[in-house]
Amino acid sequence: MTKKCWRLLISCSFLIILLICSISMNAIAADDMQTSKVIRVGFPIQPGLTEVNAQGEYRGYTYEYLQTISQFAGWDCEFVRVNGTVNEQLETLMNMLKDGKIDVLGGMLKTDQTIKEYDFPQLNYGVAYSTLSVLETNTTISDVNLAAKAKNSIHIAVLQQAKKKIAILEQYCRENNFQYTLVPCENELALVNALSTGEADVILGVDLSKEPGTKVIKTFAGSPYYFMTTKGNTEIVNVLDDAMKKQEQSNPYFQKQLYEKYFGEQGRKFVLTEHEQTYVEEMKPLRVLISLSLAPFQYEDNNGKIDGITLSLLSDIEQQTGLKFQYIERDMKKTLSENIEEKEIDIVAGLPAEEKYASANQLILSKSYMEADTIMYSSRNFKRNQTNNNDKTKNVKKGIAAVSNIGHTFPGLSSNHVKFYDTLEECMDAVNHGAADYGYGNSYSVSYYMSEKNYPNVVTMQMPGISNGFCLGVLKDTDINVLTILNRAITTIDETQKYNYLMKEFDKGKADFSLLSYIRLHPIQVLTMGCILMLIILYLIYSRQKQVLLEAENEAKTRFLSNMSHEMRTPLSAIIGLNDLQKRNMEQGNIEEEENCIKRIDSSAKHLLSIINDVLDMGKINEGKLCITKKPFDIYEMLEDIKTIYLIHAEQHHIQFHTSFEADMYSIMIGDALRIKQVLINLISNAIKYNKPEGNVYFHVSQIQETEKSVQISFTVADTGVGIKEENIRRIFKAFEREERGDVSEGTGLGLAISNSVIGLMNSELKVHSKENEGSEFSFILELDKGIVEESDRVKLRTDSEMELTNIRVLIAEDNEINALIASKMLQRVGIQVEIVQDGELAVSKFVASKPHYFQLILMDIRMPHMDGLEATRVIRNLEREDASTIPIIALSANAFDEDIEKSKEAGMNWHLAKPIESQKLYEVIATLLKK
Ligand code: ADP
Repeated sequence: MTKKCWRLLISCSFLIILLICSISMNAIAADDMQTSKVIRVGFPIQPGLTEVNAQGEYRGYTYEYLQTISQFAGWDCEFVRVNGTVNEQLETLMNMLKDGKIDVLGGMLKTDQTIKEYDFPQLNYGVAYSTLSVLETNTTISDVNLAAKAKNSIHIAVLQQAKKKIAILEQYCRENNFQYTLVPCENELALVNALSTGEADVILGVDLSKEPGTKVIKTFAGSPYYFMTTKGNTEIVNVLDDAMKKQEQSNPYFQKQLYEKYFGEQGRKFVLTEHEQTYVEEMKPLRVLISLSLAPFQYEDNNGKIDGITLSLLSDIEQQTGLKFQYIERDMKKTLSENIEEKEIDIVAGLPAEEKYASANQLILSKSYMEADTIMYSSRNFKRNQTNNNDKTKNVKKGIAAVSNIGHTFPGLSSNHVKFYDTLEECMDAVNHGAADYGYGNSYSVSYYMSEKNYPNVVTMQMPGISNGFCLGVLKDTDINVLTILNRAITTIDETQKYNYLMKEFDKGKADFSLLSYIRLHPIQVLTMGCILMLIILYLIYSRQKQVLLEAENEAKTRFLSNMSHEMRTPLSAIIGLNDLQKRNMEQGNIEEEENCIKRIDSSAKHLLSIINDVLDMGKINEGKLCITKKPFDIYEMLEDIKTIYLIHAEQHHIQFHTSFEADMYSIMIGDALRIKQVLINLISNAIKYNKPEGNVYFHVSQIQETEKSVQISFTVADTGVGIKEENIRRIFKAFEREERGDVSEGTGLGLAISNSVIGLMNSELKVHSKENEGSEFSFILELDKGIVEESDRVKLRTDSEMELTNIRVLIAEDNEINALIASKMLQRVGIQVEIVQDGELAVSKFVASKPHYFQLILMDIRMPHMDGLEATRVIRNLEREDASTIPIIALSANAFDEDIEKSKEAGMNWHLAKPIESQKLYEVIATLLKK
């Protein structure tokens, strides 16, 4: 295989590893995305952090950071804005955060006060530095001469209310022996004015909000800033911790890039002072000593032309500043000081960022213009001592290769195993031929030579945490202007420009850089390939997830069926057993026991019925057939009903049930009272069921908003019970899912799933906050139209004392023998005569065959063979006889939701009774309909 093919193969395999890493990250993100949660984020308008551009789009450091981590957190951020100045906005939002009205606020410092009142994740998402700035046009004070000027006192303008920042500044001044006078200012404008009038030499600020028209000359004392959340909101804190860690792993440079984008040096103009201008114009070209054995930084190309990253940088500096450079090649056989002495130079290029080495050679270091990771290259046979980083020399047999006269200090190079060579290339040759065991170099150069030359015996290893900086060295007696200008020019060259230098080298086909460099160099290609691969892999993950979901669903259904059989068998066995007992009680005339037994049969039967109703409801939900009706109802009546039932129920379980219903809510609403009641009953019975002995349940209802047409009512059920484990909170709303707890075994896992769907159908959301062992709070807000109760809905049942039911004949149409028997016994007990038929068809023919008014009432089951109750009623109502339209027909049905009642009404029935029939209710309805 050719060298080119190998290179391509290596690049591809690097790429694939990277893509797999990014895919797995994104797969996690995609996984989380499926259950994305809406998070309310405070959005104060702060330049750079959270701002809105001219098109009304949100942008800023915090905004972009949050959007990026949201994919790992599974969040859908909803940004909340408030009015006022920045300080007012922050104050309002901090209060909202405290009250839980928003979930997250960014750009916050950890102080004693904030730590007490809010919660923070572990990681910060940026660091804010204090700054000293001067007017952009100021050429008398710079970073270089600030310390010298400050020895004789400088005036620093500060915002008088920024006490903490002033304290930090004073400490900084003390540590650096600055003589200073503070100039207190009221606001930012006054700060800049103080500079313009000369009242102040510099102003104190923060790097995140640079005052317009100023430039930063000193940055110090970093303070990390964080996202902050409501005290006790551990869910947000945990998700933030996790998402921020994942983000850092996926792109460690992210914060830096964002900083560059919003607060960086970009766009800052390079301005020469008048004095510098004259100096540059009059000066001769500067002589730059350059070694040509440090590719891709500095080297001689095939045509004998010198080139490289350093050269690109110096050429840009020439253009920016007007300085001129003349290059003199360094003799690597001689020391640096010999070269400097012999060649009469002003600057040394490609100097390592090593203070000691520089000053030993009478050089002053400029700011570093490029950073590269350190790489260890070693012979394949060399056993690196992995366990002890400090003692790599242990296995050295042949020696450690190092470049002499280069100035870089690497680990282990102080040992007497070192073998010196003139260039890095020679060092690597030595390792390849077995003359040395290993050596160190910067990642760009090592990669360059690895790809340029064939080193079959050399392997490389990244040295995390160790990097090499490259600087220019200015000879001590060179005019100070040179260093000042060079430093300013280097700082104005941003990261993107540096990557461009790298890209230029790469495009020449000279170097096979590290993977990271490759990505920086070819972002578009990497992105396109990445996207295609990602799509393929996402599709595979999606199919796999679908399969996993199906399996999980099936498993949940199987578990549900076995739970359900158990759930149903329990009350059914109780009914059968109790029935047996009852028979014996009756034989023995044991009246007291009889009553007790009947009560227990009653409660087991009701429990069984509620399970069956839940299953039927769930079926309807799955088929999308659950309907929500809209009818007037009295909210206080509904709440009092619930209160009555649960006061007793709670007491039986030794739980205190506290209710608070706001007194002046609009009372008649339009909605599905039965379904709302069903949800509330489910929440309250759970709150009692999953409580601790002597625990509390709080049921609170209040009106939070009223318009001309509608009201918003908030319902909350809270308890001091066992709570729900955080990892189970999302699960409990799923059908058939329960939190496995040793202490409570009763339940089907359907209640919350139904409640959640019902509330969803009412265009709201069931919310839960829960902490294990502390309790849970379920809440929802309903928007209901205002209504008035129609007379027909107000029909009141007659009370017991008013009833007189003898001399009445009732036709019962019921296919189930036992149900028919129960109904007939109930009626006969109060003197009503009964005739029974088994289906709708027979009911119609019996009615037709009878004389008018022979029957005074019909009890009609809905579900019957041959002809159902609805159809039979329609036929009867259409008969041509005097009592056909007037005879009261009562529907008997297992379901009593509004849609069922509506259907029976439409068919011509007068009332709808749910099975199992309660005798008292039956008598009341008959009395009401017959007006006896
Ligand atoms: P069930 O009560 O029949 O198991 P639900 O759907 O009503 O079914 O509730 C699902 C699960 O949610 C329960 O099994 C329980 O683990 C948990 N849960 C519901 N409400 C509470 C509560 N108030 N406190 C603690 N856990 C609860």
